[in-house]
Amino acid sequence: MKIANIEVYELEIPFNLGPDNLASKNFLKTTGLDFCLVKIESENGHIGWGDAFAYNCRQSVAQAVLHMLKPRLIGRDARDICRINHDLQKDLHMFGRYGITMFAISGVDIALWDLVGKNEGVPIYQLLGSVGNKRIPAYASLWRYEDPDLVLERVKAAQLSGYSSIKLHEIGISEVQVARDFLGQDFPLMLDTNCPWSPQEAKEMVRVFEDINLYWLEEPIYPPEDFKALARLRRDTGVKIASGEHACTAFQFREIFDNNAVDFAQPSVTKVGGISEFRKIVVLCELAGIQIMPHSPYFGPGFLATLQLSQTFPNLGLLERFFIEPEANLYPKDVLNPVNGVFCAPNGPGLGVDPDLDVIKTYKKNNTKV
Ligand SMILES: [Mg+2]
Repeated sequence: MKIANIEVYELEIPFNLGPDNLASKNFLKTTGLDFCLVKIESENGHIGWGDAFAYNCRQSVAQAVLHMLKPRLIGRDARDICRINHDLQKDLHMFGRYGITMFAISGVDIALWDLVGKNEGVPIYQLLGSVGNKRIPAYASLWRYEDPDLVLERVKAAQLSGYSSIKLHEIGISEVQVARDFLGQDFPLMLDTNCPWSPQEAKEMVRVFEDINLYWLEEPIYPPEDFKALARLRRDTGVKIASGEHACTAFQFREIFDNNAVDFAQPSVTKVGGISEFRKIVVLCELAGIQIMPHSPYFGPGFLATLQLSQTFPNLGLLERFFIEPEANLYPKDVLNPVNGVFCAPNGPGLGVDPDLDVIKTYKKNNTKV
């Protein structure tokens, strides 16, 4: 099944932060969700869809797919996914093992798994080896509002929507306290701080948050790869640490685990090297006794790939659902929205369902024909 063609679709889909599109600090510095969709077509007529991480870097990633990867892929047998992934990583290692290059490889890898699943007529989780996780618990991942009233409103909305665990992206004590006071002491409440503090500052902030009873504290330290500092914070304070969304390749996860830096691992399928690399991390986590809490604030094939992978986790955790509403969706709402806080992965071949071509046409930013 030779690869005949590769196309890239850049999309930008506006999104709503809440009922009144609540005013807030724009902490991700964006007005729309960026997508870099990768479409791979085989000579026998199958099409696979992939998703390279593109938030605030959409055009750079798209150019990397088209100019660095595509020439290396035309004519290769799509079924040799792991060999292709290995060759791309090896050929391109001088451009960096993190960031844009790995995002592009991730997008291609996801598309190849979708393509092969369709060729075989089975969903990806069956190709990977399922452990039978049909129902995947979700958590609501809230925007950063930096306003206790807005936080309270969104926490209430998330709970009303059926979520039984919630993550904030705040760094202020009053914003976190208002959520805890409303939810009660036992409701799983997570806090993602996005790398704001030095190791010493993080230690002081853990003391400030001591009575909040966080289910996990995510990325408290800059730089995120200072795994020794994360390990010291865990050891000295007892706080449970989640991290890994910036890590690329299984090798960096091995380093994280060797340093005892996390309680929960957060690989991101659109960044880490795709499904092929992610599945190595599933094994590493099993050997290290660490639960996976995948990073998945996505609405494209990357989200579906995470749903597929979640069906292979021996120790199933929670799947992230970004608690914002895109103006349009590439997939049916029953795929993207959990019911009573639980996702069910679609059972179609490959990723399970194809993106809506009309949505691609409407929100496309480049000139590639759909
Ligand atoms: Mg995060």
